[in-house]
Amino acid sequence: MTNIRFQAIEDVLNRQAKFPQLPKEKISDFFGENVFNPKVMREYLPEEAYIGVMAAMQEGKRIDRKIADQVASSMKDWAASKGATHYTHWFQPLTGATAEKHDAFFTPLEGGGAIEKFDGTLLAQQEPDASSFPNGGLRNTFEARGYTAWDPSSPAFVIGRTLCIPTIFISYTGEALDYKMPLIKALHAVDDAATEVCQYFDKNVTKINTTLGWEQEYFLVDKALYNARPDLCLTGRALLGHAPAKGQQLDDHYFGSISDRATAFMRDFEIEALKLGIPVTTRHNEVAPNQFECAPVFEEANLANDHNVLLMDIMEKVAINHDFRVLLHEKPFSGLNGSGKHNNWSLSTNTGVNLLKPGKNPKSNLQFLTFLVNTIAAINDNADILRASIASAGNDHRLGANEAPPAIISVFLGSQLTSFLDDLEKSIKAGRMTPEDKTELKLNIGKIPQILLDNTDRNRTSPFAFTGNKFEFRAPGSATNCASPMIALNVIVAKQLQIFKKEVDKRIKGGDKKDEAILKELQKLIKTSKKIRFEGNGYGDEWVKEAEKRGLSNLKDTPRALDVMVDKKVQKLFAEQGVFTEQEMNARHEIELENYVMKLQIEARVLGDMVRNHVIPSAIKYQNELIQNVQGLKDVLGATAGKKAAATQLDFIERISNHINEMNQLVAKMIDERRKANKMDHPRDMAFAYCDKVKPYFDLIKYQSDKLELTVDDQAWPFPKLREILFTR
Ligand code: ADP
Ligand code: MG
Repeated sequence: MTNIRFQAIEDVLNRQAKFPQLPKEKISDFFGENVFNPKVMREYLPEEAYIGVMAAMQEGKRIDRKIADQVASSMKDWAASKGATHYTHWFQPLTGATAEKHDAFFTPLEGGGAIEKFDGTLLAQQEPDASSFPNGGLRNTFEARGYTAWDPSSPAFVIGRTLCIPTIFISYTGEALDYKMPLIKALHAVDDAATEVCQYFDKNVTKINTTLGWEQEYFLVDKALYNARPDLCLTGRALLGHAPAKGQQLDDHYFGSISDRATAFMRDFEIEALKLGIPVTTRHNEVAPNQFECAPVFEEANLANDHNVLLMDIMEKVAINHDFRVLLHEKPFSGLNGSGKHNNWSLSTNTGVNLLKPGKNPKSNLQFLTFLVNTIAAINDNADILRASIASAGNDHRLGANEAPPAIISVFLGSQLTSFLDDLEKSIKAGRMTPEDKTELKLNIGKIPQILLDNTDRNRTSPFAFTGNKFEFRAPGSATNCASPMIALNVIVAKQLQIFKKEVDKRIKGGDKKDEAILKELQKLIKTSKKIRFEGNGYGDEWVKEAEKRGLSNLKDTPRALDVMVDKKVQKLFAEQGVFTEQEMNARHEIELENYVMKLQIEARVLGDMVRNHVIPSAIKYQNELIQNVQGLKDVLGATAGKKAAATQLDFIERISNHINEMNQLVAKMIDERRKANKMDHPRDMAFAYCDKVKPYFDLIKYQSDKLELTVDDQAWPFPKLREILFTR
């Protein structure tokens, strides 16, 4: 019988890199060629429809039926010219993946024949078979149906033979069942609140866009090795496996040479991404072996998020053509670097100003300070909301482990900006400001751009860092839908900006001049949000202690992190901002808990199977060989001398038995806890049981199995070892 493990290694050694051809000479010749973008629309749409769609894209205006019909018809013609025969409403259900339901353009005619049909109704609304998507009981209480509705703010695109139309996914009574709809609402909330505040500085500002630049980390594993590991196939991470002798200690992978096969894969998926208008640019290795990163130029957040979700899809599809599998799990290999998805975030005005970039004069710098300080205050007051937004079973393994920020949310500013804020806080005196005070303050504020120019601080251990012209949220995990952290961040910033506006207006009413009112309010916020600012090493144990002293939360696991979603105050905040009703929050809480339980349930089952059906039988086979050998030695040398000669074998035999027995008992106990957990009625209880009672067995079982891996004959080991997965080329 061929051993699947050795067969896989042989396959890997025989593979060749498959470099793609560039479709055209220059990237600009094919960038966005599969997107129904404004340029194409201008070509395909009647003037009136074009104006209507642009108004919907840029200002969120409604599109009427007639225009929808025109758009649908043009979209179909354009898609057909690209070879598309089907269309689908593309949406982002709460499972974390994307979903599509494909329908053909043609409609059969009575009496034979068919016509190509696609009108405004089919474009605008679709009813997928929604019963299999998570809904947290929402659809049960209302209608057992959901539908998808066109999001004109994100352009349609063609993949293969299918026209994909970005849509939101909602229940019949209007509750969001996806990530996109609440994201659009949160972007709207921050737009409104930030526009109001910008009015203090520039009356021409009428719209604020959130910008998002994500960085996607991932691992590449050969498909044959992947298929030989039930854990990678079914859970996305290695549940067993001794760490290789060489891990990432040498740091020689980071920015090191990328293997030809990996390079060929990257080129290929980047071409596909570019054709879909995803502006991918950078490419380099990450810290761990076989780990990589992809980051596009930032875009408007809704589009950027669609692009990220799309890219994850494309990566997986293209990888298969290169005999790879992509691991998007946050921690595929314990002991090695995990994978994150940094979210670079900022706000920009319709007048082209990045609100987190220091400006050219004191006024624009005061505007910069306003948004900087309000963001810090928002995080200070709502750190738990941000933490919950990135909570997942996978990310629990990553946060606080190698090369990842801890579960404690804090903000890093860099020493220059820190001392600037500290000085500012002190230099604003109580009572009315004199003209001299104001001049001095203005001078100081005018110096901000220089201060930041020589800001070389690049603290990489902070979960939320200011990086010169944006904040970088580093806690999101590689598999996260960016919408989740972007919803949370924009909602809390919107709320804080509203509070700020109210307080400043109050001061102005009380007789303060505008600048003075703003400065005093900023001073207050600098004071009250001090505890969230941390400039030290976020990876250190001292920080954990210090954070506890400061009263910051350290919510290490998902069920605990998610509790904030059912906090009445938090629910009120989201409702006020028009993002989630109380009911939607409750439903989402339940869905998140169910997702968590499901992940752990699968891991527990796979682990049990691997141990009982593979590891233990292999160990017993090897043990039998040892027993035969001992028997043979005794036969040849006699009992006493034979026993002496077989000392090592006897030691191994005993060790194997000990590990097997210990491991099997642990599996039995784990199964027992799993059974108990499965009987629980409430998802929250179940999630806590899986977290606190079932999960702790995973590492204990792994420990025993990894010891066996070091003892059992290499030829008899059933699974590709981690060194083979990470280093075979
Ligand atoms: P890192 O040092 O974290 O690796 P990178 O240079 O890889 O940083 O990534 C920086 C990211 O920040 C890029 O994806 C870039 O598009 C994004 N970015 C730059 N400016 C903005 C902005 N104003 N808003 C949002 N994202 C931005
Ligand atoms: Mg980064």
